[in-house]
Amino acid sequence: MLKWFQADLHVHTCLSPCADLTMSPKRIVTKARDKKLDMIGITDHNSAENVEATIRAAQGKNITVLRGMEIASVEEAHVIALFDTAASVMKLQSIVYEHLTPGENKDGVFGEQIIANEFDEVERYNERLLIAATTMTLTEIVKKIHMLGGVTIASHIDRESFSIIGQLGFIPPDLELDAVEISSYARKDEILKQFPDVARFPMITASDAHFLDDIGMTTTSFLLAEPTIVEMRMAFMNQNGRKVEIGEQDEYQHYKH
Ligand SMILES: [Zn+2]
Ligand SMILES: [Zn+2]
Repeated sequence: MLKWFQADLHVHTCLSPCADLTMSPKRIVTKARDKKLDMIGITDHNSAENVEATIRAAQGKNITVLRGMEIASVEEAHVIALFDTAASVMKLQSIVYEHLTPGENKDGVFGEQIIANEFDEVERYNERLLIAATTMTLTEIVKKIHMLGGVTIASHIDRESFSIIGQLGFIPPDLELDAVEISSYARKDEILKQFPDVARFPMITASDAHFLDDIGMTTTSFLLAEPTIVEMRMAFMNQNGRKVEIGEQDEYQHYKH
């Protein structure tokens, strides 16, 4: 039996230096449930160290937390990776850490990078320069994500900064993305008019939440048998009745003008 799952696949936690300190595992889960979401993706910049705590915070709460990360490529374009298993996301994290521009985070400049537990307590701080880009190319990143069984979604392609189109002006024809994400304030038809090439990819929208109130601001609906990456991949390929549809964009009117 297939059913619709409302998803916000791009949510940052207090581990991302640019995210609000209130973006702690428990609060994120509570907010996501308030917004009637069935699935969220935890996608911090170049790290997945708050993923497991968020999964523990979501236990028994009738919501699925997908293990993710938002990786910055050497081209300074952001790409989202989502996985089912802790082993896969942790393996990707160690690869990303090996390729992260060396340096220490400056709390006062970029913001704190808090690793929290499921009770919203501070466990420790991540000292790496997570806001930096990696030395990996987009092609390398996509290949690694697929090797580890994940799906790859190009982040906020409509944005001028830190997006594939913003950085390169186009999506390389050989880049094997599973989907592309447009921002909460972007319109699918306008994007397709401007960049007709994008039509070859399934499209999602997500909040890219950095504040609690952003969560679920825009969502994507998935028709799946269960909320897993395998099922999501089928939806992206329109297989076996699985489907993906851009959800209601609550804030669209607000951003229109
Ligand atoms: Zn981004
Ligand atoms: Zn983001």
